[in-house]
Amino acid sequence: MPTADLPTDRIRQWIDERERQLQALVGGAQPRESAGPEVTDLKDGAADEAEAEVDDAELALHLAELRQIERARERLAAGDYGQCSDCGEAIAPARLLAQPTATRCTACQSAAEQHAR
Ligand SMILES: [Zn+2]
Repeated sequence: MPTADLPTDRIRQWIDERERQLQALVGGAQPRESAGPEVTDLKDGAADEAEAEVDDAELALHLAELRQIERARERLAAGDYGQCSDCGEAIAPARLLAQPTATRCTACQSAAEQHAR
């Protein structure tokens, strides 16, 4: 059973919107297999480093968020959206509205964060 009365329409809208923003930010970039800047044939070299489109760390964050969005969408489709991936309890709707890609309830998330550090 889907948990609580989640405003899934709003969440779907948020997800679509956020995905568009992120795709605009990454500009269709894909994680590259082989790293290494090969852009040596810029016009005068002045615009290279300073204006790198998106820096790599930021790009990685955007791509990670896109994957989270994809998973959130799959959970919405499967009907198990809003369930904590750790304890299986319902995630508070307020938390999901604040962070629609959340996969853990507040308690499990803070436990996981403590483990992670
Ligand atoms: Zn939990």
